[in-house]
Amino acid sequence: MSGDFDPRRHRSEPAELAGRVIAVTGAGSGLGRAVALACALHGAQVVLIGRNVARLESVHAEIAASAAPAATIAVLDLESALAPDYDAVADAVSARYGRLDGLLHSAGLLGTLTPIERYDVPTWCRVLHVNLTAAFALTQVLLPALRASADAAVLFTSSSVGRVGRAYWGAYAVAKFGLEGLAQVLAGELEATSQVRVNTLNPGRARTAMRRQAYPAEDAETLPRPEELTGPYLALLGPASRGITGRAFDAQWPAGTSASNPPSSAAESSRN
Ligand code: NDP
Repeated sequence: MSGDFDPRRHRSEPAELAGRVIAVTGAGSGLGRAVALACALHGAQVVLIGRNVARLESVHAEIAASAAPAATIAVLDLESALAPDYDAVADAVSARYGRLDGLLHSAGLLGTLTPIERYDVPTWCRVLHVNLTAAFALTQVLLPALRASADAAVLFTSSSVGRVGRAYWGAYAVAKFGLEGLAQVLAGELEATSQVRVNTLNPGRARTAMRRQAYPAEDAETLPRPEELTGPYLALLGPASRGITGRAFDAQWPAGTSASNPPSSAAESSRN
């Protein structure tokens, strides 16, 4: 049964996340913003985590102006945060909600597209820290709240370059490989002792600031908007993925394929 699960086929129900508390990093912009809004509009109480207060407040206001449950804001700069800052987020979640049902790590930094031979070491450390170590640290402090949920999901945002190495993607690719490994290790540890599942999702190409930075000459009109990609996130953060853990998913079908004309599993795994 779980072998058939594919979040790209998910059809969202209006209240599918009702009663759930879901935290999203990078919630102020790009994919994180779109998923945070979609979670709220599907009934979740969302914890908006990010570093830019004005952006978080804008998402908060958009949720407040809708019929969705109220959201809360947790300011956390993943580059500079220290243990007390992480603890403050975990304490605030536990005090307000008593549990956490979903945690999406969407925040990320591109770094530079540079050969390993010339990759700047401080940039390497920054990208590994924000994209991998901070995701580990935040997950760790939130585990007690996730364990307090009857059905919790942790979702790390991966990338095609985190599944098969690609020249010049440097620290970004290595950090995404690290997230894939972290997800597998953590899923294995939690499977027998908790109701917490852990998966990764590669969103595929999306019209965001990071994509513009990586491909400045690309016509953005050809890219899906973040709002068009939220369905697979809802599937992996909500009840649709109950029992699915330790797996790596894609949010988009490869070019030339679709839900009605899916790729062969061999073709897809060679692409990823
Ligand atoms: P954006 O640049 O729009 O979003 C990145 C987010 O990370 C922003 O919200 C940004 O906050 C946040 N962030 C960066 N640094 C920090 C920090 N130090 N502390 C806290 N938050 C931080 O890009 P996307 O939406 O595209 O990226 C979302 C995820 O999707 C990333 O993990 C990315 O690797 C992944 N991805 C994206 C693809 C694409 O084509 N767009 C393809 C494959 C994967 P702020 O608003 O303050 O800048």
